[in-house]
Amino acid sequence: MSKIQQTLSIIKPDAVERNLEDNIKKIFTENNLGIKESKKIQITKDEAAEFYKVHQSKPFYNDLCDYLSSGPIVVMILEGENAVVANRKLMGATNPKDAEENTIRKLYGISIDKNSVHGSDSIENAKKEIDFFFKN
Ligand code: UDP
Ligand code: MG
Repeated sequence: MSKIQQTLSIIKPDAVERNLEDNIKKIFTENNLGIKESKKIQITKDEAAEFYKVHQSKPFYNDLCDYLSSGPIVVMILEGENAVVANRKLMGATNPKDAEENTIRKLYGISIDKNSVHGSDSIENAKKEIDFFFKN
C-alpha cells in the first residue's frame, strides 16, 4: 500500500556554509523524495528555541539553539513514499561517527552538533514542523 507522506528537512548552518545544499538535495531527489518547497532563511535564537523546545531540558539545548540560529539554513518539505522514515535513513545517525556509509551525516557531518541536517522523527512532528516553517 502506498504511503505518500511529507516531512520537514533542514540543511543546517554548517552544511549551508560549505555549499552543500545542491549535493544534499540531490541525495533526496535521487532517492525518491521530491522537494515540494524550499527556502533559505535565517532564524532568531527565540525561533530556534521554539522549534527545538522538545529538547529544552537537555544539557545541549542552549548551544543547539545558538547553533541553529547562527547562519542561513535551508528548510524543505520532502514528499514521497514513507517520507519520514526514508529521510531519517538517508540522514544517518545523530552522531556522524555512528552513521552508516553514504548517509548524509556520514558524508558531510562534522560532529554530533554540526551534523548537517535535521529531519522530523514522526508523522505527527512532521506536520508540526512543516506548519512551523511554512504556515504563512
Ligand atoms: N545534539 C547535540 N548533542 C547531543 C545530542 C544532540 O548537539 O548530545 C544536537 C544534534 O545537532 C541533533 C539535535 O541536537 O541533531 C537534536 O537531537 P536529536 O536527538 O533529536 O537528534 P536528531 O533527531 O537530529 O538525529
Ligand atoms: Mg530529533
